[in-house]
Amino acid sequence: MSRSVLVTGGNRGIGLAIAQSFAEAGDKVAITSRNGEVPEELAKYGVLAVRADITDTEQVDAAFTEIEAAHGPVEVLVANAGITKDTLLLRMSEDEFTSVLDTNLTGTFRVVKRAAAKMLRARKGRVVLISSVVGLSGSAGQVNYAASKAGLVGFARSLARELGSRGITVNVVAPGFVDTDMTAVLSEERRKEIVSGVPLNRYAAPAEIASAVRFLASDEAAYITGAVIPVDGGLGM
Ligand code: NAD
Repeated sequence: MSRSVLVTGGNRGIGLAIAQSFAEAGDKVAITSRNGEVPEELAKYGVLAVRADITDTEQVDAAFTEIEAAHGPVEVLVANAGITKDTLLLRMSEDEFTSVLDTNLTGTFRVVKRAAAKMLRARKGRVVLISSVVGLSGSAGQVNYAASKAGLVGFARSLARELGSRGITVNVVAPGFVDTDMTAVLSEERRKEIVSGVPLNRYAAPAEIASAVRFLASDEAAYITGAVIPVDGGLGM
């Protein structure tokens, strides 16, 4: 059965791989991004791309109105959009801290709140949040990012308790290091250092994160809620 799926930040990286995997399975996929363009990889699937900055409640609301008009209420929400602004604590400005929280955590709140209202009415739905291994184990130079990603775990577990009796599951995928624009900024030396700490000895491909998300959104995962699934090559264990 074709479902209405929304992937935030679905124009590139992990979000793109997630959107592509739902589209390939025949779902009605919408993506939001800051530029509103349909990436080449998604063009053939008739994916709906909507411009929305998740730090702006009005833009989020307008995006949902457009998506609901085209695809019906969102049945599977993947809150993927996120940013990093890495630096050590004493060099970190308050803006570098709050803007990462505003995007990664409050941005997720804005999107999930809007989707959950319709899921509650339908008494079904799947919510998957993209956290990070860094939210579980911490990372020097990323107190803002780690706090936002750890926050998503508490958010998801609380919401799983709120929505469970209404047939809605809320789960978290916590990737390790994935080959995307976000990690392309790391030096070759840092990359080698990271890989040496990963039991599977390599970065993940974005499609490997998408597999876990697809599973959590599937009927096979109907009895899983409030779970945090690491997809990190063993890095965080
Ligand atoms: P990316 O930088 O390639 O993509 C991030 C996406 O988020 C982009 O589509 C961007 O447009 C969108 N985005 C950022 N700020 C936004 C805003 N204010 N409004 C709307 N959209 C916004 O990064 P990625 O590696 O694909 O990361 C995707 C998610 O996975 C992020 O939440 C990231 O924290 C998480 N993650 C990534 C890695 C990794 O190694 N790449 C590891 C763990 C978790």
